[in-house]
Amino acid sequence: MRASRVAASYGARVAVAESGRFGGTCVNVGCIPKKLFSYAAHYREDFQVARSFGWTLGEPRFDWQTLLANKDREIARLNAVYEGLLAKAGAHILRARATVIDAHTVEAGGRRYTASHILVATGSWPQVPQIPGRELAITSNEAFFLEELPRRALVVGGGYVALEFASIFNGLGVEATLAYRGPRLLRGFDADLGERIAEEMRKKGVVIRLQSNPAKLEQGVKVTYEDGAVQQVDLVMFATGRRPNTAGLGLEAAGVRLAADGTVIVDDYSKTSVDSIHAIGDVTNRLNLTPVATAEGMCLARTLFRGEPTPVDHANVPTAVFSDPNVATVGLAEDVARARFGEVDVYKAAFRALKHTLGGHEERTFMKLVVDAASQRVVGAHMIGPDAGEIIQGVAIAVKLGATKAQFDATLGIHPTAAEEFVTMREKASP
Ligand code: NDP
Repeated sequence: MRASRVAASYGARVAVAESGRFGGTCVNVGCIPKKLFSYAAHYREDFQVARSFGWTLGEPRFDWQTLLANKDREIARLNAVYEGLLAKAGAHILRARATVIDAHTVEAGGRRYTASHILVATGSWPQVPQIPGRELAITSNEAFFLEELPRRALVVGGGYVALEFASIFNGLGVEATLAYRGPRLLRGFDADLGERIAEEMRKKGVVIRLQSNPAKLEQGVKVTYEDGAVQQVDLVMFATGRRPNTAGLGLEAAGVRLAADGTVIVDDYSKTSVDSIHAIGDVTNRLNLTPVATAEGMCLARTLFRGEPTPVDHANVPTAVFSDPNVATVGLAEDVARARFGEVDVYKAAFRALKHTLGGHEERTFMKLVVDAASQRVVGAHMIGPDAGEIIQGVAIAVKLGATKAQFDATLGIHPTAAEEFVTMREKASP
């Protein structure tokens, strides 16, 4: 979407081939419907908290069909908006699956098209481990269209999708279990985040099984774990990562080098091993986030059609996991910062948000800053708590600009907010 529109705005003649709906994973089976579901799920707690502020409510009831129908309507609206934006930009729309024939030729809908440049932005697809009974399980693709909510659900995985859907199911009243093969959730994130989000999600009712992985599934659904434990659930969802969508695209035949898992290998300018073929987004398996793919698309359009070679900057990309509570982060995890800089100063705050003081609600907000001791630059900011994504987005500007801890401290807080903790942390955490 973005690469086409920006390229067209620079004067390129653009055609886009899409066999499905416009907007990709994010709009159709990712970020957008997921966040709508997350909002829906959070109401359950909001209704409880409202009581401590004096509100009396009838017994809240949730209707899945209403949520699905409203979500579908909104996604259809976005599909139309996206297609309209492409058309308005002057892009020629091919409603067909495309295959690459050679360095300058694409086939779509039974016709061949030639182009100076071909861009592969075909995204990724959920991958499911090869265990017996895997066909009984769903992935996030199907979770957005369930005919009814299960009574009991098992979500397998310990990354973004697993945490988000375990929280969604739990909030919507499903007995949710999350099983993760490793010792700590969110591998690759700061260790405190992985540990504390498990605690917070447990408090809210999600059953979290660590070092636990299904070995087989049987009708019912009966789950047998690798350690022999057995669990009966109504739905199993694998959130065990995604694979680049490159099968059957004709890329290898056209000379494009792929990694063993199908990833398109690209350089800093998103160029593949064939000079006229570029690739961006999940299909290149760099940082698989929508704004990153969008940035890669804009950089590429600038490189190819404005004569300004622009590499993609993948440093200090902020990101959020929309679990309940949210997790958000920018920059380096403490262990990564230590390995890179040697000595680091760490600041932490954990507290109950003001909103939760009246009702005895147990959710705790957590914030952490990681500072390179030598330069005093803040190299990592991490948070768990309501609206962590909204808060870290602002902090990310400071981190991207290389702000020092003293500059954080010189910034006054907005009182009373949770975010003000990021500029009032004075005590170094003991190592
Ligand atoms: P992730 O890579 O985040 O997590 C995959 C999880 O599945 C990991 O915990 C991994 O374990 C586990 N896993 C992988 N293979 C197996 C296996 N064979 N058996 C058991 N467990 C396994 O992938 P997701 O599917 O959650 O999301 C895909 C990507 O999409 C994310 O990485 C992110 O880039 C993007 N995304 C972003 C969102 C956002 O911005 N809010 C939301 C959703 C997705 P281990 O850690 O041990 O390898």
